[in-house]
Amino acid sequence: MKLHEYQSKQLFAKYGIPVPKGRVAATATEAKQIAEELGGRVVIKSQVLVGGRGKAGGIRLAKNPSEAEEMATLILGMEIKGLPVRKVLVDEAAQIEKEIYLGITNDRAARKPVMMASSAGGVEIEEVARLTPEKIIKAHIFPLLGLRDYQARDIAAGIDLPREHWRIFGQIARGLWQAYADCDATLAEVNPLVITSGNQLLAVDGKMVLDDNALFLHTDLAEMRDLDVEAPSEIEARKFGLSFIKLDGNIGCMVNGAGLAMTTMDIIKLFGGEPANFLDIGGGAGADKVSAAMRIILADPNVKTILLNVFGGITRCDEVARGILSALSEVKTKVPMVIRLVGTNAEEGRRILANANMVTAETLVDAAQKAVAIAKA
Ligand code: GDP
Ligand code: MN
Repeated sequence: MKLHEYQSKQLFAKYGIPVPKGRVAATATEAKQIAEELGGRVVIKSQVLVGGRGKAGGIRLAKNPSEAEEMATLILGMEIKGLPVRKVLVDEAAQIEKEIYLGITNDRAARKPVMMASSAGGVEIEEVARLTPEKIIKAHIFPLLGLRDYQARDIAAGIDLPREHWRIFGQIARGLWQAYADCDATLAEVNPLVITSGNQLLAVDGKMVLDDNALFLHTDLAEMRDLDVEAPSEIEARKFGLSFIKLDGNIGCMVNGAGLAMTTMDIIKLFGGEPANFLDIGGGAGADKVSAAMRIILADPNVKTILLNVFGGITRCDEVARGILSALSEVKTKVPMVIRLVGTNAEEGRRILANANMVTAETLVDAAQKAVAIAKA
């Protein structure tokens, strides 16, 4: 789960990272009010969950409250990389002398979190990594020890940060690590961390990505989820505990188990088809889950057929079959289904489904070939 810039910066502030004064607004009038409260120059920043907002025109400086209102009107009407802007952050504008990159993520190869910093901040770090990798200074963090003071100093020296800033840089680096660790994040990033004309370090931008698998431990963070920016189908899927990802093809997939779901998608592709989604209904899925999954898949107008591939272990095939019938009684559809049921209660499952608009298949290869043929017809 990604956090918005304003949310990340609120968290950072709690961990002792200096951030600009500011608040979030949903209307241009509110933005004007905030600018009045702050006084002086402000920066109006689109709150969308993508990077590169600056380049896209989603970040603008305003000299006074009425300009702030103008800029907010402009930005609130924008779409950035396909996402509508629903909120803007109004921050005290910083006078920037230098932009630094500072971030933490998991280094899977090293099996440790890694802190990265670069004097070439502001731009996307992926670009720096590609063109001038020597400009990125790294320190791996042993989770039980946390970020050590010497590591923060090494990084500060590595990016040629003037010595007068080392103490506060250490505080920022430790704060970022603590935020990352406490929140079970997979990314915590300040880009840019700036040196202002008043010679202060300030986190002008903030980004956090949280590990969805740990969110149940953090109800306060889970509540920060912005439903405005997610596909309705994915919100619905989460409500029922389904792992669902929408794709661009026309063969809907309903499968139990992530591995089997991936295999199913691979086989569809092998025979020249394109999956419309990834969907794992999970082990032991009952009729209500199956029925929710059907509704979600059928809401996609591209779907020409649904390939149901269930390997009944804990999941009972008759339960799955009942779920499908209950979904079909709610959602009237002509979309044909290709079903492959094997394992626990498969016989009974097939019997229950025998009357519906079904094509049965014996093997996964058979099922995929039939689904692709229907989708192409
Ligand atoms: P991003 O493009 O989505 O990463 O958004 P950022 O918040 O990083 O802003 C992009 C760029 O806008 C920064 O690298 C700065 O150069 C500039 N910027 C952001 N906030 C301020 C500010 O308060 N004052 C000034 N002068 N520039 C800013
Ligand atoms: Mn940025």
